[in-house]
Amino acid sequence: MKTYNSFSEIKTDLLSNATSCVTLTQAYIKNIHEHKSLNIFLEVFEQSALEKAKEVDEKIKNKTAGKLAGMVIALKDNICYKGHKVSASSKILENFESLYNATVVERLLAEDAIIIGRCNCDEFAMGSSNENSAFGNVLNPLNPNCVPGGSSGGSAAAVAANMCIAALGTDTGGSIRQPASFCGVVGLKPTYGRVSRYGAIAYASSFDQIGPITKTVEDTAIIMEVMAGKDEYDSTASSKPVPNYSNELNTSKKHKIAYLKQCLEANGLDAEIKNRIYEIIEKLKLAGHTVEAVDFPYLDYLVPTYYVLTTAEASSNLARFDGINFGYRSKNATDLESTYKKSRTEGFGAEVKRRIMLGTFVLSAGYYDAYYSKGQKVRKLIQNKTTEILNDYDFIILPSTPGTAFEFGQKGEDPIAMYLEDIFTVQANITGVPAISLPLGTHSNKLPFGVQLMGNMFSERELFAFSNELMKI
Ligand code: GLN
Repeated sequence: MKTYNSFSEIKTDLLSNATSCVTLTQAYIKNIHEHKSLNIFLEVFEQSALEKAKEVDEKIKNKTAGKLAGMVIALKDNICYKGHKVSASSKILENFESLYNATVVERLLAEDAIIIGRCNCDEFAMGSSNENSAFGNVLNPLNPNCVPGGSSGGSAAAVAANMCIAALGTDTGGSIRQPASFCGVVGLKPTYGRVSRYGAIAYASSFDQIGPITKTVEDTAIIMEVMAGKDEYDSTASSKPVPNYSNELNTSKKHKIAYLKQCLEANGLDAEIKNRIYEIIEKLKLAGHTVEAVDFPYLDYLVPTYYVLTTAEASSNLARFDGINFGYRSKNATDLESTYKKSRTEGFGAEVKRRIMLGTFVLSAGYYDAYYSKGQKVRKLIQNKTTEILNDYDFIILPSTPGTAFEFGQKGEDPIAMYLEDIFTVQANITGVPAISLPLGTHSNKLPFGVQLMGNMFSERELFAFSNELMKI
């Protein structure tokens, strides 16, 4: 199959009749089947995808096709698509079928995107390597001995392996940007409230955002134009108007950019990644931008704050999986209590159970003030400091990840080592600001790595335009 590197290449071929939506969808499906061993897709929606492709081909002929006609897109397995299975890669939701469309799905379909299937991920989006899926590891298509990152590992791998032109993920603490970095693609965590969360299976509701994974910034911009905006089903979705991001990608504006001293001097940051960021900083200065070091004293508090608060929210959100309303029910249960206990014990994996217990602990009466309240206060401090920096600067530049993709089993035994993977990504979720990972680095180990930009709340327009410029550097 011809390799497409952007949606605009697909549109050109559709326009000149060099391909059709059906041909394209069939080719992607074939590629998925040929690389089944990578375990990227939990399910290919062959029938509905091909039906939609046929319908869109008709619409193209009649000149009534929507903006995303020909965009073959995959969903992370925690985003609801009516009449299709969604399991959050958990045994507890195995075979559960969604009764409604997530708002993002509704909007993509309305603009004639073709949804090709659901991608493997860490169970309930908890993880950084995809090793926590109940349905097996996803292999990194660039090096199958390595993890693809997580939790949206399948989504990033699907785009990198040419199984679709774009995918959706969710990002609570880096789950879009970290796998994008490990797979060499673009990943965006939108501003909190820019995209409706309705129909995304909740992990930590005050952190979660749905976002795109693509090969180009332009494709991210196009998808965001369609998905973003107010939604009566999610009161946290902002009613701020959504700009035409993709029409405003060219900029010659000179920006003020900050880098956080503590991030670039952090122990554990790979030397080549650090050097690449400094190299980019120099290039930006030569191009006339102002780039300055600023102090960020809270680096060591980011990961603990994230894990105290998100586990608390997770313990509440995941209480609904009780073996009664829906999902897995233990065959060994004898009464109400044992139904809850056994269904949850057998249905959830080890990491999810660890987080539910941690979250229940930090919310418990005796420890609430010591952990949960304290966590909220530290969140506020981090928010204030980040806002202060972003009042003075347009963007913050930092690494996406401390290293490149690692080998299976390397960090799985040690939760703390795994949690430290999130050190550069959680700041955006704690504060709500948008952040994008751009594939701007290649390591001497031949693996890619991302460079991250954070911007002010709702500054996606400026963030995309500057990212687009940065990709040319
Ligand atoms: N790696 C982080 C975690 O394990 C991020 C998860 C996410 O963003 N969903 O929680």
